[in-house]
Amino acid sequence: MIQTQGITKSFGTLQVLKGIDLTIEKSEIVAIIGPSGAGKTTLLQIIGTLDSPDSGRLIINGTETGRLKDKELAAFRNKNIGFVFQFHQLLPEFTALENVMIPALIAKEKPGVAEKRAKEMLDFLKLSDRMGHKPAELSGGEKQRVAVARALINNPAVILADEPSGSLDTKNKEELHALFFELREQMKQTFVIVTHDEQLASNVDRVIHIKDGVVLE
Ligand code: ADP
Repeated sequence: MIQTQGITKSFGTLQVLKGIDLTIEKSEIVAIIGPSGAGKTTLLQIIGTLDSPDSGRLIINGTETGRLKDKELAAFRNKNIGFVFQFHQLLPEFTALENVMIPALIAKEKPGVAEKRAKEMLDFLKLSDRMGHKPAELSGGEKQRVAVARALINNPAVILADEPSGSLDTKNKEELHALFFELREQMKQTFVIVTHDEQLASNVDRVIHIKDGVVLE
């Protein structure tokens, strides 16, 4: 599902990624761990095609992303990759339902279809009674579940999550992690999760340890 070959990335004189080779299978749940500053977020941004490597190849779901033009890449990303961030990054002026609909509307789905799918997603995440609420009116756990619903709306093959439970308390954290595993069972997504959470890291299929810009194990 995801393959990286010899990915490098520098910011100025700082070489953050020094040749990353990874193969992640369909439906795998992988955690990326490592010290702060090791390059985890940079790698996740590159896998998510939000940033481009200086050299190396990225192949997602059979597509070599480096060959896509900007517009094609944006469409590819919107269809194939869902993102969950540490801070939900919901748009404050929109309701939960509207926030979840956005990626479907960007994918040029008809508004009625986008709304129906968003409602199904929110229902699946037990948020039906919160649909009309704006982010400020939701709890931390609810906001993060809305963000997961938004990540899922286009049924992407890949979900990338950067410290997704970093802002949650223990109960909401455990619920969110359980949700990832449930989604994998039901929808067969591939998850790549940057995390400091040891409990999550001990439960995933595989841990990828990044240090000083290389994969340790
Ligand atoms: P991690 O997620 O493992 O903590 P990051 O990938 O966020 O590490 O960052 C790796 C290094 O790259 C850090 O030293 C960070 O300061 C630097 N860095 C990340 N993004 C940028 C950027 N856009 N410009 C300059 N330096 C950056």
